[in-house]
Amino acid sequence: MSNSALVLFSGGQDSATCLAWALSHYEHVETVGFSYGQRHRVELERRPIVSSALRQLNPDWNTRLGIDHLLDLSVLSEISDTALTSDTKIAMQENGLPNTFVPGRNLLFLTVAAALGYRRGINTLVGGMCETDYSGYPDCRNETLQALESALQLGIQSTIHLETPLMWLDKSATWSLADKLGGTDLIELIRTETHTCYLGERGTLHAWGYGCGECPACELRARGYEKFMA
Ligand code: ZN
Repeated sequence: MSNSALVLFSGGQDSATCLAWALSHYEHVETVGFSYGQRHRVELERRPIVSSALRQLNPDWNTRLGIDHLLDLSVLSEISDTALTSDTKIAMQENGLPNTFVPGRNLLFLTVAAALGYRRGINTLVGGMCETDYSGYPDCRNETLQALESALQLGIQSTIHLETPLMWLDKSATWSLADKLGGTDLIELIRTETHTCYLGERGTLHAWGYGCGECPACELRARGYEKFMA
């Protein structure tokens, strides 16, 4: 087991799986979340619920899980006008990216997390970025994150390291990873407690969890779960 890690934790399926992964690989784990003017606060509201459920699932995880940090990055909603931060319909843009793309979001998140890690004495940052099954966001690509890791090492601390355990997994493999880490209890926790839907919908519990069932995030989550169960 390595020493400590700081997990970017949004309350969604991917970051909850990353948190379980980190709790299985590091002796001390802290979490960081960002409030950036998300259109729906439901994701942020799930964070403490998901982390206390993870604590209850496994006594070792409970011991290893340290404090949570919630940071305000609402400047993101001031500088960008996207379907995640304003009441705009989700659509494809002319540049081939969906308008749910918040430019610079992951770059900013990881840079702020690295600075927080510096203060907390934590060199490893864990994020759920993935380029296998994604919406084409350029800041989820492995190449981007490797370049950012180099920049953070040069600009903050040479020992900073980014871990992206989901990078080469599709959504069904992400469910399989959760199964490996925490069995059916963890699958059930992620299925019912995490939130992915872009529209903030939590009215209906589907086989794959709560959500509108129609936005791109719900579609990806549903397809992955179906493949995992098949
Ligand atoms: Zn949805």
